[in-house]
Amino acid sequence: MKPKIVIGNWKMNKGFEEAEDLISEIEEKLQDYNFETEIVLCPPMLYAELVTDHANEEGSQFYAGVQNVSEYENGAYTGEVSAEMLAGMDVSFCIVGHSERRKYFGETNAIVLKKMLRLLTNDIVPVMCCGETLEERKAEKHFEVVQKQIEETIYQLTPKQLESTMIAYEPIWAIGTGETATPDQAQEMLSFIRSLIEKKFGTEMAVNTYILYGGSCNGKNALELFSQPDVDGGLIGGASLKADEFMKIIEAGETVIKEN
Ligand code: PEP
Repeated sequence: MKPKIVIGNWKMNKGFEEAEDLISEIEEKLQDYNFETEIVLCPPMLYAELVTDHANEEGSQFYAGVQNVSEYENGAYTGEVSAEMLAGMDVSFCIVGHSERRKYFGETNAIVLKKMLRLLTNDIVPVMCCGETLEERKAEKHFEVVQKQIEETIYQLTPKQLESTMIAYEPIWAIGTGETATPDQAQEMLSFIRSLIEKKFGTEMAVNTYILYGGSCNGKNALELFSQPDVDGGLIGGASLKADEFMKIIEAGETVIKEN
């Protein structure tokens, strides 16, 4: 079994000092352990350097990520940050196509793909989010919706590019709502996504691709979710803002690895 990955998405939260405090608290809790679980912190863009500085310290147990990137290479795009700039800051991961960006900032699958390609060109791992709305699930269209998202993004990559890409299934009805997908629902969709990858890229690639679950994952439910065979870890929003809660999720990842 490959190590689990736990990615913290801080969204637009934390003042600078609070961000410093949270990183210190997480570091303090990590220092007594040697975790196999891979940990990524995605703070607001402005704090990327703060996190990369810590991630670059000797013995650091986490990687630096961000929550967004420009679809453009460089030039007159006021307010944007390019993948090349992120690479220059030693950012290793970037969330793309989060449902909040799709909803509030008009990100389409085509834009998400452009962002992924910019990141891959700059050796940054895209964490591509997909997932359905509550209405789509109620109408039993969730597989269709996710398949389209995968076909218009992941299917456009070369096998080499997919090797450096992760997928996060985040049902929109579970994000920030406290209503987590059941372990069965998470497993069912992640297994479906893996089967789509297998169809296009083959079994080995399907087995090796990291597919995460996200949506109200917390210290209480992480163990059951991570115990599902196709759940390779979690993309964590609210619960990544408190060091104690975030650690419980990381520990859940460790427990599952040690038991297998
Ligand atoms: C997210 O925003 O990626 C997320 C999973 O949020 P939450 O854990 O708060 O539902």
